[in-house]
Amino acid sequence: AAKAAGRDRVRLFSPDLRDAARWRMDVATRLRDGAMDQFVVHYQPVVRLDTGAVEGVEALLRWQHPERGLLAPDAFLSVAEETGQLIPITRWLLRETTRQAAEWARQGLALRMAVNISARHFSAETLVRDVRTALRDSGLDPEQLMLELTETSVAEDPTRAEDQLAVLRGFGVRVAIDDFGTGWSSLAQLMALPIGTLKIDRSLIAAAERLASGGTGAVLGAIVELAHTLGIRSVAEGVETAEHLRMVREAGCDSAQGYLLARPMAAADVERWAYRVRDG
Ligand code: C2E
Ligand code: CA
Ligand code: CA
Ligand code: CA
Repeated sequence: AAKAAGRDRVRLFSPDLRDAARWRMDVATRLRDGAMDQFVVHYQPVVRLDTGAVEGVEALLRWQHPERGLLAPDAFLSVAEETGQLIPITRWLLRETTRQAAEWARQGLALRMAVNISARHFSAETLVRDVRTALRDSGLDPEQLMLELTETSVAEDPTRAEDQLAVLRGFGVRVAIDDFGTGWSSLAQLMALPIGTLKIDRSLIAAAERLASGGTGAVLGAIVELAHTLGIRSVAEGVETAEHLRMVREAGCDSAQGYLLARPMAAADVERWAYRVRDG
């Protein structure tokens, strides 16, 4: 099923909602029985808007299911979280992605690796240890690792979040707030935290397009400007059309990610893609 180098262009399987309960039980059983070696990572490039250079990739989890083919995270992530499997899966993912980024760096392809961290993992003792182990074993420059946290992860227990982030920042690891605009945290709340990047959720990009009616996405522009005032970079997510790209440029976003620029893809495809972009 993972033919053609496992391009994400192949439709990812999503379970039928009528069978949701049975699907969840099946996923839980398989996870318990050690489906760990069936997980694969796809990488989606993030592109700088000033130079067009690739600044990094986001690691996105997929499950190469023996019968269903390649599964999107929507199909199994919440079950994995409930059964407590997401932490060991992410521990594996941190090792795999830092190893991959270090290997790319040795080849002269320096790409920052962004990894999604669940709220539960963020509040667990083990995260710091997992990150430290992955960095040590891979030899990756910590600055090349970026952890993506959601607003809820840091808003639940701000004091604890501050401590946890201070330790991670102490390693040199970067931190981004993911899906900004979907929660209720404000930039003022985030201001106290050592956050380097804001990833603006694609729902906001789509909303800006509706509101703009040909003009500037004023809301988007205001967010980006405030972020810049706080010394925070902004990445626009879900850039699907030339109009989205024009809009996020105009709003002053630093970087963008989305199907228009590149789809998530297997590691070997990232290399081909990056060299093609670099060499024109
Ligand atoms: P996310 O972190 O916001 O990741 C971006 C999602 O948007 C990815 O979906 C990506 O394939 C999709 N995407 C990228 N460009 C476009 C675009 O132009 N248009 C549209 N409509 N979608 C675009 P994916 O891979 O299905 O992942 C969904 C979510 O699952 C992620 O959202 C993230 O919250 C979660 N996830 C994925 N991998 C991991 C992981 O390793 N750990 C954790 N905790 N969560 C993960
Ligand atoms: Ca993310
Ligand atoms: Ca996101
Ligand atoms: Ca999202």
